[in-house]
Amino acid sequence: MAADQVSVVTATLTCRCPRCGRGKLFSGLIQLRPACAACGLDFSKMDVGDGFVVPILMVLGFVVVGGAIWFDFTFTPPLWVHALIWPPVTLILAVLMTRYLKSFLAVQQYHVRRAEMGL
Ligand SMILES: [Zn+2]
Repeated sequence: MAADQVSVVTATLTCRCPRCGRGKLFSGLIQLRPACAACGLDFSKMDVGDGFVVPILMVLGFVVVGGAIWFDFTFTPPLWVHALIWPPVTLILAVLMTRYLKSFLAVQQYHVRRAEMGL
């Protein structure tokens, strides 16, 4: 790891710039910023693609459907309780998983395939 890099784990978990570790990676919840506000690293050349969607769907489906089945067999709640619980849980988990997986892929690209970013 070069001196001008932050570790993959640190940059991923903090959603910060992989070069300086100070600038934020996202402008909103899941939208990458065009560049690092601290060091100027061009994030627009990071191409995370949409490969992260499939693992998110699989894990999220397993967790939510499994959780709903377990909850139903354990507590036998009325259907409106399921309708109240699972949509927000799904949305929150989807945003969190998308954010951290997208952050991981962007940081990985900087560390492993930075030539694709013109560096
Ligand atoms: Zn930076």
